[in-house]
Amino acid sequence: MSIAHKALAALYPALRLYNQLLSITFSSMPPVRILIYHDIPPSQEENFSRQLRFLQQSWQFITPQQFNEYLSGSRTLKKRSLLLSFDDGYLSNLHIAKSILKPLGISALFFIVSDFMDLTSPIDARLYIKEHFFSGQKQIPVPLHCQNMNWSDLKYLLKQGHTIGAHTKSHARLSEVDEGELWEEIVASADRIEQQLGITVKHFAYTFGDLKSFNSQAFEVAYKRFDMVFTGLRGPNLPNVNPLALRRDAICPSNSHFQIGALLEGGADQLYRSSLKTYMSWAHPPRRFQS
Ligand SMILES: [Zn+2]
Repeated sequence: MSIAHKALAALYPALRLYNQLLSITFSSMPPVRILIYHDIPPSQEENFSRQLRFLQQSWQFITPQQFNEYLSGSRTLKKRSLLLSFDDGYLSNLHIAKSILKPLGISALFFIVSDFMDLTSPIDARLYIKEHFFSGQKQIPVPLHCQNMNWSDLKYLLKQGHTIGAHTKSHARLSEVDEGELWEEIVASADRIEQQLGITVKHFAYTFGDLKSFNSQAFEVAYKRFDMVFTGLRGPNLPNVNPLALRRDAICPSNSHFQIGALLEGGADQLYRSSLKTYMSWAHPPRRFQS
């Protein structure tokens, strides 16, 4: 754990108390925070399960459908809430949906890369992960367990009450592709998911999550296609949040409870203020939608 992470974790009890006092004193609206996980390695499954049980002590998990209703204004939330999301479409997500999410009664939002779902060989899957997901870290070996889900796995997740969202065709960095590719990555990819699964895809998470991986041109394409755009920028989602500028908190299954607690109490939000301000300049004016 780095010094910054240790310092953040140490702040958790104070941040928790501060937010409790704030909500009592000013009757502030409880926020929705959205968690992002990626692969859950077999060695981390127990930690991941413990993290969710720890979070259930001070937050309530809501379903993607309840979150849609919250955004459309048709549902108010009395407690502070969490929405669980997973990016990319790793096979480990299917395992934990069966062994951990189902017993805990948690429904999640899975953002999948459509080309990744087509792979049929474990070797191809690991090569794909190295080339498309580990951008800038290609020297890191891809662990053997890292594989892709396929279309029938996604049908299983849908039957279990989970929701599938779009996360591009090939996990391209959208700030670096031309207009034609933007359409392929954002629009055609979501249309393909709809055809393969017989669903409507309303949720989109752009790749890599940081501000420099997205831009106003890519935002415009996503804006015309989706009701909701999920960033990787940390922050609370209050009832007046713009559905095209949703904040999310990246979490690792190896993070300590105090680290996660501190992040969700807003301990690192300040670092994302400036990125969110720039993002909001693309996403203005806000748009409401029907859930
Ligand atoms: Zn991703």
